[in-house]
Amino acid sequence: MGERYELIVLGAGPGGYVAAIKAAQMGHRVAVVESRDVGGTCLNRGCIPTKTLVHAAEVLEEIRSCEKLGIHVGQVSYDFAGMHERKAEVVEQLRGGIEGLFKAYKIDLIRGCGIILDSNRIQVGDQAYETDRILIATGSKPAMPPIPGLTLPGVVTSDEMLEGKGVYCKKLVIIGGGVIGVEFATIYHALGCEVTIIEALDRILPTLDREVSQNLTMILKKRGIKVYTGARVDRVEHTDQSVQTAQEKGLAVYFMSKEKEQCVETERVLVSIGRRANTEGICPPSLNLQMQRGMIPVDDSFETCIKVIYAIGDIVLGGIQLAHVASAQAVNAVCSMFGERAPMNLSCIPSCIYTNPEIAAVGMTADEAKMRGIRTITGKAIMSSNGKTVIEMADRGFVKLVFEEESKVLLGAVLMCSRATDMITGLSDGVAGKLTMSQLAATVRPHPTFSEAIGEAIEDADGGAIHAAPRRK
Ligand code: FAD
Repeated sequence: MGERYELIVLGAGPGGYVAAIKAAQMGHRVAVVESRDVGGTCLNRGCIPTKTLVHAAEVLEEIRSCEKLGIHVGQVSYDFAGMHERKAEVVEQLRGGIEGLFKAYKIDLIRGCGIILDSNRIQVGDQAYETDRILIATGSKPAMPPIPGLTLPGVVTSDEMLEGKGVYCKKLVIIGGGVIGVEFATIYHALGCEVTIIEALDRILPTLDREVSQNLTMILKKRGIKVYTGARVDRVEHTDQSVQTAQEKGLAVYFMSKEKEQCVETERVLVSIGRRANTEGICPPSLNLQMQRGMIPVDDSFETCIKVIYAIGDIVLGGIQLAHVASAQAVNAVCSMFGERAPMNLSCIPSCIYTNPEIAAVGMTADEAKMRGIRTITGKAIMSSNGKTVIEMADRGFVKLVFEEESKVLLGAVLMCSRATDMITGLSDGVAGKLTMSQLAATVRPHPTFSEAIGEAIEDADGGAIHAAPRRK
């Protein structure tokens, strides 16, 4: 038996490593068990690698369009392997940072797959470790629906797309038009790949404001990306066509759209239909850890049905699978388990999508408010009249704010524009702090910026009455 810890964390993703560091900062003896790389999905196969590739794709597109700015660069080309080398550099640098923090805070990193034996013991390989508390932060992996043909070579998930040298192709079919699907569509389209998105629901990004889905669909289609919605994939088969090497067969994706069977031939198929919790085999059935479809229910302090066993992040039942949610839950869980007040406000979670233009949302949409019987006023600003947008030749977009009709308190915001993912934080402060229309209107926004559109959306919500100064163009 090894030494006894006050907390053992299973999984070193943005949930697990933040929890371990927080607990160690509070002076507790902590160990983290990790079966793969420190940083979890987010750092190794998720947020960071995708955004590094998104950045490369954006730079490529900017260079291609710079003729209009009077800049001549000649022939532009890219090096796929070089992009993945840069991605690996970014990941390694950030991973080194986390490992450095583990050392600085004397957190023991135990490499291997952890199994919970009981509420005070974890087994890793041949060794058992004793602990006062356990935090499960084992995250998730790509879900594979039972569609015939998804085990064929050439059918991949986001894991294969992001790990190592990536997946190069000239034709890509993406099954699932959620966040991961549309981000990959943006990257691969910029690389000159022929991209098709097939989404079963009636719109892409189905959890967001309907107008976002409509606008993004239009933008993607205008760029040449094929988008099929309300379309169910029936099967994937090999074709006789070979791709890249003579041994590699092409793929044909068969799907039903508008009651007709359709087929798209492709080199690769990316399956991005959601994620499944990594909870298989983490504890013996005799422990009776309650789960629903592999997800773990928790109470307000993130304690599971078993005392002193906690759970956070992608594995939590009913949670939002985002890195910042896992990290915020980590802080609250650790504070709660050591008897301190939980500091993070988890009622107001921003979500960001790194397409071009970017999309970000927080709080309620007008439709959600209506479903809850809340009367609202909506204000909207179109980005085509925003000076910075015109300067940067950015695509169509908008800022939409939703206020409670009577109190004029900000309930939600959705942005579809350049820098939306940075601007959303100010509006999250507004929703979390229950700021009113006039409080938000009183803020002086610098000119020329994309954020001026927020002022215009407030003005629109109030029918123009609230602004003392005429707006600038
Ligand atoms: P994870 O990050 O999955 O970490 C869990 C860790 O536990 C893993 O390292 C795993 O190896 C380890 N583990 C599992 N079982 C065991 C075991 N038994 N013993 C020891 N270790 C174990 N979120 C955002 O907020 N923004 C984004 O831009 C974003 N982009 C994404 C893009 C993609 C392609 C993907 C797939 C996800 C993206 N996400 C994004 C989601 C984000 O990555 C996850 O929500 C986040 O990583 C969840 O954190 P976690 O700590 O719960 O789990």
